[in-house]
Amino acid sequence: MSGVPDSALVLVVNSGSSSIKYQLLDPDSGEVAASGLVERIGEENGSIEHRADGRTVEHEGPIADHKAGLRLVFDMFAETGRDLAGADVRAVGHRVVHGGEVFYEPTLITDEVEAAISDLSELAPLHNPANVTGIRSTRELLPGIPQIAVFDTAFFHGLPEAARTYAIDADLAAAHGVRKYGFHGTSHEYVSGRVAEVLGRDPESVNQIIFHLGNGASASAVRGGAPVDTTMGLTPLEGLVMGTRGGDLDPGILLHLLRTADLDVDGVDRLLNRDSGIKGLSGVNDFRALRRLIDDGDQRAQLAYDVYIHRLRRYLGAYLVELGRVDAITFTAGVGENSPDVRADTLAGLENFGIEVDTARNTAKDRTARRISPPDAPVAVLVVPTNEELAIARAARKVVRDLESRDT
Ligand code: ADP
Repeated sequence: MSGVPDSALVLVVNSGSSSIKYQLLDPDSGEVAASGLVERIGEENGSIEHRADGRTVEHEGPIADHKAGLRLVFDMFAETGRDLAGADVRAVGHRVVHGGEVFYEPTLITDEVEAAISDLSELAPLHNPANVTGIRSTRELLPGIPQIAVFDTAFFHGLPEAARTYAIDADLAAAHGVRKYGFHGTSHEYVSGRVAEVLGRDPESVNQIIFHLGNGASASAVRGGAPVDTTMGLTPLEGLVMGTRGGDLDPGILLHLLRTADLDVDGVDRLLNRDSGIKGLSGVNDFRALRRLIDDGDQRAQLAYDVYIHRLRRYLGAYLVELGRVDAITFTAGVGENSPDVRADTLAGLENFGIEVDTARNTAKDRTARRISPPDAPVAVLVVPTNEELAIARAARKVVRDLESRDT
């Protein structure tokens, strides 16, 4: 057993359509008491890997639905010494992808809130239904514990009007909720706060650009703690090149394909969400696999990489101008934290802008938040590990504390 008392812990749940990622952690220290992953829900070959206090427990076999998966997870918690339903777990924090115009703060989940998140499924058909399924199951299994929804769109709710507005028929856009919402907000908010800490500066005084580069990828421009622009839009399809999503496209391409290729709306959906990006160009979506292909001289893989970097630099240029003065440029998430090449190539040749990467610092094997620019460079370039679970746990705990102090 770890030394963290149960009463301090928050369970964070991130439900996908056929998976659930979870962590039980201490929102103060970030210490993780347990974590795990349920995969292939609804299939014959479901699996769960549960890690707790240095032990790993596994389950293989069919998992009928999210509730069945969570039941098995709670059994595993019991096996590793934690009774979630009985122990004093402070709160459950749920990652919810789309909050629409309705939710822009961490929100205590009631029946009405659950229904409203479900109603937003039109805006996020791949994500919100899965989030709601996870929420419903967890609420049924842990009825006595407050559950809080933390929205991926929340941080970007206050984007300036000019940055969030699409130049289409204004009435049509308003009637259908068409605006730039932005995603990965929990990560951009957490990382922007960490950057100020690492620099030892007041967040209000820092202008920064953040590249969150994972399977999904997005960038943000943040002025004094408030975002002024971000790459993802109405949906998480806009902006940077990603593992299986192409980011920005001429919308005329879609019309052209609908008219001339053997594709209907679902076919275009599949193309945009699953068969584009690095995968569409090279055949692989994982960045490590892409690197191996490039090292073997694969031309398609090289082009995929070049397109990926070209897009990053295009947004870097845009955000440098939007911010006017930039104090820090930060890389985070799987690719951002682990790929020195991506960092160096994105920022190459920008010494005239005060942007430089120190090769030794950039390639050092270091997993902590750190500066990789020369100490005297005008713009700090950083690598900061993101921690969305910790940010969600802290947000959930804050909602619970605020409710308790209101009640007393
Ligand atoms: P998600 O968006 O699913 O949270 P992650 O932030 O975990 O994704 O990022 C996944 C991506 O990070 C994958 O493309 C993976 O190849 C890449 N990645 C992970 N580790 C490394 C590494 N050591 N070097 C290069 N890329 C890495």
